Amino acid sequence: MSSTKSYAAQSATTPLAPWTIDRRAPKPHDVQIEILYCGVCHSDLHTARNEWGMTIYPIVPGHEIVGRVVAVGDHVKKFKAGDLAAIGCLVDSCRECDNCKEGLEQYCTNGWVGTYGGQEKDGSGSTHGGYSKQILCHEDFVLRISDKQPLEGVAPLLCAGITTYSPLKRWNVGKGTKVGVLGLGGLGHMGVKLAVSMGAEVTMLSHTPSKAADAKRLGAHKFVLTSDEAQTKEVANYFDFILDTVSAEHDYNFYLGMLRTNGTMVCVGAPPPAPPLGIFNLIFQRRSLAGSLIGGIPETQEMLDYCAEHNIVSDVEIIAMKDINEAYERMLKGDVRYRFVIDMATL
Ligand code: NAP
Ligand code: ZN
Ligand code: ZN
Repeated sequence: MSSTKSYAAQSATTPLAPWTIDRRAPKPHDVQIEILYCGVCHSDLHTARNEWGMTIYPIVPGHEIVGRVVAVGDHVKKFKAGDLAAIGCLVDSCRECDNCKEGLEQYCTNGWVGTYGGQEKDGSGSTHGGYSKQILCHEDFVLRISDKQPLEGVAPLLCAGITTYSPLKRWNVGKGTKVGVLGLGGLGHMGVKLAVSMGAEVTMLSHTPSKAADAKRLGAHKFVLTSDEAQTKEVANYFDFILDTVSAEHDYNFYLGMLRTNGTMVCVGAPPPAPPLGIFNLIFQRRSLAGSLIGGIPETQEMLDYCAEHNIVSDVEIIAMKDINEAYERMLKGDVRYRFVIDMATL
């Protein structure tokens, strides 16, 4: 066991505050990482405040983790002390079900273990995430990162990057695809960068007028203000694919109407609670509504390598650990350009 400083929420209504976790001693296949940066995902906020009704307290959020390896177990082959390494949203899964064998650990039918708030397979209790000085897990769930990119910009790729990359690949987005990215936040800005890099025509769908210039700078070809009726009419029956990243309650039916025949809207945003669905929005025009959860380990590595090759990182604002509660409030107001990243030297 080793004591590790962290920031935790003790209940849904208390702010995050310093807390000490006992991390296990490295097992033979474990990689132990000193965390340098950790991104702040809206899922951290949903979980800290128990908005999905599943949180076990205390909770140490954070699943966009980059750092340096400080120790490895005797059987570890992929990493050695001193290497850069990253951990995303998963730290374990059964490795035996069909999905695990295919590298789709996030859909493990026996239950995957989340980086925070998950239950360790050995019965040792809850997992604790990246708002902490150190973390360790089995080498199979540790990712390699480039030493040529700024580490703070790489951290958000571990969730915001893979969560948008995975559905774009799955639905074959590329040259000739008309893509709408709904919501310009942490996920949305990665969705725009990635879809543009894949050759798609990308429209930013946002309810914040002041984000229009940023959308263009990020590479979007068009910007549609979703509160402006004339602008939304222009994209009725228009998109092949919409990536919905919105974190708050919104009307899916309205955006389904922007899909052309055979179009698909993939929801990655997970606002509680889900609003009712008008089924004729799907039946007419043979549209599809789908969901997608982060990405498996092989695809996460593929995405990290892709981003290194295409020079893609997240646009970040670095914060100190003590400012996390204020950062959550700003995230709720949409006041982040476009991902907060905690500098763990400040913990
Ligand atoms: P974020 O940075 O806070 O961005 C969310 C964006 O949603 C905002 O920037 C805003 O964009 C839009 N929005 C917010 N409130 C809105 C409202 N009332 N009406 C319309 N639009 C609104 O959050 P994030 O970290 O990108 O996460 C987004 C969602 O994805 C969260 O629900 C999170 O839990 C979920 N998530 C899912 C997965 C997965 O595997 N499926 C993984 C990670 C995160 P505009 O200002 O441009 O409108
Ligand atoms: Zn996340
Ligand atoms: Zn499995």
